[in-house]
Amino acid sequence: MNSTKSLPLCPACRKGHLHSITHTKVFRPRGAEVTVELLASKCDACGVQTTRAAQHDENLRRLAARKPQYGNVLMGEEIVALRKRYGLTQQAAAKIFGKGKIAFSRYENEVTYPDDGTTLMLSMALEKPDSLKWLADRAEVELPLWPERCEDRRMSLRSVPTGDRRVSVVGLVRYQSSAADSAAAGGGWQSIPPTGRSQIGALKSILVPMKEAA
Ligand SMILES: [Zn+2]
Repeated sequence: MNSTKSLPLCPACRKGHLHSITHTKVFRPRGAEVTVELLASKCDACGVQTTRAAQHDENLRRLAARKPQYGNVLMGEEIVALRKRYGLTQQAAAKIFGKGKIAFSRYENEVTYPDDGTTLMLSMALEKPDSLKWLADRAEVELPLWPERCEDRRMSLRSVPTGDRRVSVVGLVRYQSSAADSAAAGGGWQSIPPTGRSQIGALKSILVPMKEAA
């Protein structure tokens, strides 16, 4: 067994030391199975489990990195980000998108995933704030501070917080532009396989820190 001297002291009992452990979190975005290893710490004396700040940041990074495996399916964090962006409660969001009261709680915790039509509407709302406004007006839901929120509508609208960095998830926009680049090089859409590595690679390439992208 390794020496525990270099390990952090347990903040709970002040006797034991914190050892790194991992939890496997499994997401099942509509048929796919996506696993993420999340970090935590466990005291060897009292058994308390904590997540240290650096582990928390790394966990957020790992969670954001699962995006390419989702295809068009939205991650729970993206739906939370969309809803919070417009100051909507889960109930208000449900009314706007014509869903039951607990639907957004389930989407955001990835207990269930929005169906194709709802995914399309949510994606449209992410890309085009005016479409959300239209849906909200139609459902007679007021969007708090709508004009102010519209002013900064670009990247932050479509980003997922990942600790001190923000990762852009503007997948479709960049993917199309890379396809256009291929077209300019004489390839065109047909040169890009519809599924598989190159598409995932294209999506991965857009997972850039916002500071660099801005
Ligand atoms: Zn302890």
